[in-house]
Amino acid sequence: DAQLKRTEHLNGALNAFISIDRDGAMAAAAAADQARAMGQRAPLLGVPIAHKDLFCTQGLRTSCGSKMLDNFIAPYNATVVENLTEAGAVSLGKTNMDEFAMGSSNENSYYGPAVNPWGERRVPGGSSGGSAAAVAASMVAAATATDTGGSIRQPAAFTGTSGIKPTYGRCSRFGMVAYASSLDQAGPIAQTAEDLALMLSTMVSHDPKDSTSAHEGPEDFTRLLNNDVQGLRIGVPEQFFSQQLDDQVAQATRDALATLEQRGAVLVPVELPNLAHSLAAYYVIAPAEASANLSRFDGVRYGHRCDHPANLQDLYRRSRSEGFGLEVQRRILVGTYALSASFFDAYYVKAQQIRRLIKNDFMRAFETVDVIAGPTTPTPAFKIGEKSDDPADMYLQDVYTISANLAGLPGLSIPCGLVDGLPVGLQILGQHFDEARMLQLAHQYQ
Ligand code: GLN
Repeated sequence: DAQLKRTEHLNGALNAFISIDRDGAMAAAAAADQARAMGQRAPLLGVPIAHKDLFCTQGLRTSCGSKMLDNFIAPYNATVVENLTEAGAVSLGKTNMDEFAMGSSNENSYYGPAVNPWGERRVPGGSSGGSAAAVAASMVAAATATDTGGSIRQPAAFTGTSGIKPTYGRCSRFGMVAYASSLDQAGPIAQTAEDLALMLSTMVSHDPKDSTSAHEGPEDFTRLLNNDVQGLRIGVPEQFFSQQLDDQVAQATRDALATLEQRGAVLVPVELPNLAHSLAAYYVIAPAEASANLSRFDGVRYGHRCDHPANLQDLYRRSRSEGFGLEVQRRILVGTYALSASFFDAYYVKAQQIRRLIKNDFMRAFETVDVIAGPTTPTPAFKIGEKSDDPADMYLQDVYTISANLAGLPGLSIPCGLVDGLPVGLQILGQHFDEARMLQLAHQYQ
């Protein structure tokens, strides 16, 4: 009840939640109390959390930050939601996000931007800005989020919270509204690496309902947390300290790496020569997949439908023009163009080739190091409105996070200091399925 009151009180200013589910949360909390009274145990019994509003929740609206799904109530729960509910977590509701997870500032939400608790006019990052703001403001202990190109790590960095995008396939995508299916991955945002480990241990499962679900199965991600980092090899790619990087963010990152070195880790320079092409490859592949995924929103089966359509064409055209915001329409156009017969080889195939080169770069680097570290974002949180007129500038936000998605690798962000009074993040990337070691390093740093 206290967490609900806090959330209801702060949400007017922060707009972190699209839907607050007071009744559902109170019922779940009462059930948790009863379970505890009966001596039952569950890993997250009674812990207040929230779900990004693209995880389907039975009976509670799942808007995906879009007018298109403003009226959509899913008939089932996403697997990640099921797993957390089973673990005893109590969801207070659904958090704000960029429409269809497209964006880096939460400004593309149909419900207006979430606000960064660290500065009144600052963005909380995106697309999982509501989840990050809700955790940063202690509305909830943790929240679910998704990361297609940085949407867990960048908002975590901007709000002084911690976030992990696990290996592609770790968390089931069943019941997650699809953006770019070969890149989408769910994960938690929380205050600390330890909390991330607790959340992730319940979120991960093999799911036959998702054909790309990993077979690794459940794991205790807390098991290495208290091991020291003596001898752990951290790769530091010079490409992560590129010219886009703010000098003070660079300094904060180097200071964090120096701290880890003092604690016994070994810093090793590594090369990721194709990293510079990751942004270009992503902004072909992600829109291409999005254009296919979003074709289901046709005004017929679910979502927004225009009034009085004259014919089928008119129904499609007006329902989609009215239901999708401008950034989503831009991505659909870019993606459709990249997939069209005459340009498929020049754009989509080329982007997939670059994707492979980037993955190969990582595999080569991981022959000599255990993890790779660098900054999460080029700058701290920017002002609301500062970049909204310049999509290319906005896309640059993702320059350090996107490569992990292209390679399917796990990545996390933890706070590593303040720049001009605003938090910045240290990013740690790991080998496939090596989340426990990344969390160990993060916990030892914290
Ligand atoms: N900012 C990136 C985009 O707009 C990444 C978003 C995400 O990870 N969902 O596509």
